[in-house]
Formats: sequence, structure tokens, C-alpha cells
Amino acid sequence: MDFVAGTFAEPQRPEGVIEDRCPADLSVLLGRHGWALSQVDRAVDAARAAQPSWAARPGGERAALVRRIGEVLKGRAEELARAIALDVGKPLWESRAEVQACVAKAAITVEDGLRLVAPFPAPGQPDAECRFRPLGVVAVLGPFNFPVHLPNGHVLPALACGNTVVFKPSEIAPHAAELYARCLAESGVPPGAFNLVQGPGPVGAALAAHPGVDGVLFTGSWAVGQAIQRASLGQTKLLALEMGGKNAALVLRDADLDKAVYDALFSAFVSAGQRCTAASRLIVEGPPARADAVAARIAAAAERLSIGHPLREGVFMGPLASEPGLEKFLAGSRAAPETMLEPRALSPGGLRGWYVTPGVHRVRARTGSAYEREELFGPDLAVYDSSSEEEAVAIANSTDYGLAASVHTASREAFERCLSTLDCGVVNWNAPTVGASGRLPFGGLKRSGNHRPAGLYSALYCAAPVAILQGEPRLDRAKLAPGVGWVDE
Ligand code: NAD
Repeated sequence: MDFVAGTFAEPQRPEGVIEDRCPADLSVLLGRHGWALSQVDRAVDAARAAQPSWAARPGGERAALVRRIGEVLKGRAEELARAIALDVGKPLWESRAEVQACVAKAAITVEDGLRLVAPFPAPGQPDAECRFRPLGVVAVLGPFNFPVHLPNGHVLPALACGNTVVFKPSEIAPHAAELYARCLAESGVPPGAFNLVQGPGPVGAALAAHPGVDGVLFTGSWAVGQAIQRASLGQTKLLALEMGGKNAALVLRDADLDKAVYDALFSAFVSAGQRCTAASRLIVEGPPARADAVAARIAAAAERLSIGHPLREGVFMGPLASEPGLEKFLAGSRAAPETMLEPRALSPGGLRGWYVTPGVHRVRARTGSAYEREELFGPDLAVYDSSSEEEAVAIANSTDYGLAASVHTASREAFERCLSTLDCGVVNWNAPTVGASGRLPFGGLKRSGNHRPAGLYSALYCAAPVAILQGEPRLDRAKLAPGVGWVDE
């Protein structure tokens, strides 16, 4: 269902229907959501109409709404977590953590984010100051893997800064998105300030290219991010693009191997490998035999991971979120050079869903193949050996992406050296690649982003700075420019 101008309704003349089946049990139909391109115009019109009065409200009032949204999300946390688990197959323990991140984002936005866009005087220049103004109407385009947290990470700062929003969620997660919209409605968001339009890619494309949209806040794949960039050529809207990753975990010679192996296992296979920060490459410094031993340990541990229905207690990995995702993953993983653990589709307990077992591979000679460079977005880890720390960093950097990396080492100096040479926006020390703080900026280099990081910095792309110089109210004849030839009349 869509939410436009304060009303939940199906499009009057749908052009298509999303049949939302649970990827963990295809016999369960979660809902049917009609979609229509004309809803994009309606939602943008509603957002445009609502924007001036929303921006004119005192900042404190907007911040209070954001806090209320956080409270409503908290109050409906379990319901939301179950909706996420069923929509995308994410185990309940992880879905609950996703909702907690949404709740935390409300406080972070109000307490830390808005501080970044607070007016400030020019240092040492009393006649100059900076204020921030909203962009206007922003489109939020969400991915399936964090179907609520990542859109919410754009929506809350956008509203707090005085923008109005049209949200197009992933077509894989319409159920969770509708529940999120219901939480915003319950929080008292004014009609038109937040709108939800369901639909597949073409609805997103129409929204991103809409002339009534001033900013596109996108989280998704590099391919779609590029399409959005191309479609907006010649337009003046702001693009904040959070895209994919091909992330590496580095294990240096002095690393604690138990910790490094556990973190790599977690980084590669949590969310069934469907995280932008998932480790898909593990680079082990030392002789090839050390990497062989690590790869064998990880393959053995990966075989023991519990895979099953996301609502079942004790499950580590649910299914992949969609059939195309599963097919792409299996085809990509099959292209790996040397297989230690081959991924295969499965039906745990007879369930029909998009379940897959993890893959572990060994890469001895780098060829620059698609397998080595491209994001698979599933549970697959390639293990490399490197003869030095420098080579480990070079392997890590040998992709077009630059989102996350981790370095396992007991030495702060070694970590600092890697930090200064890894081309990534997230570099963790003795921690999984998938860890990130909401109180820090979050974004990547190269194909992983367009230098507009989200996380704490999301407020920065939701507001435009305006530089103000204050002059004399009356003409000061002593300050006329040379050669003006001014004559008083
Ligand atoms: P996707 O790019 O396929 O889709 C993202 C959204 O864009 C969806 O809502 C989709 O309907 C919409 N869309 C599709 N075609 C469009 C078009 N032409 N114009 C506008 N919108 C369009 O991504 P996904 O499969 O949902 O999510 C997985 C991807 O997201 C992975 O690449 C992952 O790494 C990335 N991701 C990045 C981050 C980050 O913060 N950097 C976080 C999560 C996921």
C-alpha cells in the first residue's frame, strides 16, 4: 500500500502488483502491493505542497517529531523486527538489532546530526555567518538488506532539516516498509511531509529523475547508482549514493588466529553475506600453507553454521532474500578458482525458500576475474595468501570498490600503516568488517559511494549551507572602490 498526503491507499489504476512472498517459506504470502508510476507524481506533488510549512516550523518542533518517531519505532520494535525477518529472511536476532539501530538514529539525529548543520559565525569575522537550509523534496530509495534501518537513516535527518520525503522501498520488502510508514503516521508526521510509494525499479527511476525532487538519497547497488547518476545529468539535484562493496579482512602474521577466524566467519556469513560491508575476501599474510590452514578452518566452521527459518531461535543464517539474488550468487560463486566448500541451495526442514549454504574458496593466483572483483551479495569467502603486509593491502585495494576492510594485528603501528594505504571508508582494527558506529560517518570510496557519507554525516547532505555577509545599511563614501567616480545626487 502507498502512503500519500497522509492517506494509506492502493493506487487507483495499478500498473503492476508486487506479490510479496516470504523468502524463508514461499507458501506464505505476506501481501500484494499494487504500484503505478502516476503515484510518483502524486507523492512528489504532496511533498512539494507540504514542504514550505514544514520547513517554516521551528527546528525544535521538527526535532520533537523525530524523537517521537524513535519512540513509536521502539514501541513497535518486535512487530517491525518480525516484519523484516519475514520480508527478507533476516534472522530475528539480527532484525531486532536493525530496529534498535532505527531507534538510536532518532537520538543521534537530534543530538549529534543537527549540530553539524547548526548556524555558525565565521571565526574572527563578526559580519559573516553560515546558515543551513533544507534541499526541498528528497527521494529516499532503499535496498532490501536493511529495508528499514537504511531508509530511516536518510528519512529522519531529512525531516529534521526541514525537507519533505518520498520513500520508495525495495520491492523485496514492501511489508516492512508499509509498517515503517504506519509508525511515521502514528508519530504525527504532517500530511505530505512523508510519503511512501511502492514499486519496482521503474518507479524508483521515475522518482529519482522527477523534476520536483531536489535530492536523491540512495542506498543500493553500483549499477543502479550509476543509472541514477546518468538519469540526473543536466539536472541540479543532490545525489547521495551509498553503494556496494568487495570488502577484505586482512590477517597479519602476529594476529590472534582464533579471533581473526571468528571475525572473518561472522563478517562473511552474517545476514547470509547480504551486507554491503560483508567480507568476501580474507587475506592471510604468511606462507601459502598458513592461508590453506585458515581456509580449512573457516570451511569447517562454515559447515556447522545453523541455517533455517529466520523466526526460529538459534538460527545464524536465514535464506537469501530473493530468487534472482540466489541465482546470481550461485552462478558467481561457481566461477571461483578453487573450491573448499561449495555453496548449494537447500530446504532446511523441508521449507521451500531461497536458502543456500556458505561457500569458501581459495585463490592462489590472482587473475582479476569477475569473481575476484565483483560483489556477489551472498555467503562466499575467498581466501588469499600474501607474502607481506604491503601485498595484503595491494590485494585488498585491487577492486573498484572501497567500502570496508578490517585488519587483524597486535601491532598499532602495523594497523596505522594499513589504515593510511587502504582505499576504504571503513577500516576496523581487530573487529569484523561489518561493524559500524551510527555516531560516525559511514560511506565508501571508489564505486562504493559519491563522497557523501551517511551515518552521522547524513544531516550534511540533507541541508545546503548558505553563506551570509552583513554589509553597512548606508553608503560609506570612504569605502568606495578606486575609479568609481561616484557623484552624490
Ligand atoms: P538495488 O540497487 O538493486 O536496488 C536499490 C533500490 O533502487 C531499490 O529500491 C530498487 O527498486 C531501486 N531501483 C532499481 N532500479 C532503479 C533505477 N533505475 N532508478 C532508481 N531506483 C532504482 O540494490 P539492492 O539489491 O536492493 O541492495 C543491495 C545493494 O545495496 C548491494 O550492492 C549492497 O552493497 C548495497 N548496499 C549499500 C549500502 C551502503 O551503505 N553503502 C548499504 C546496504 C546495501
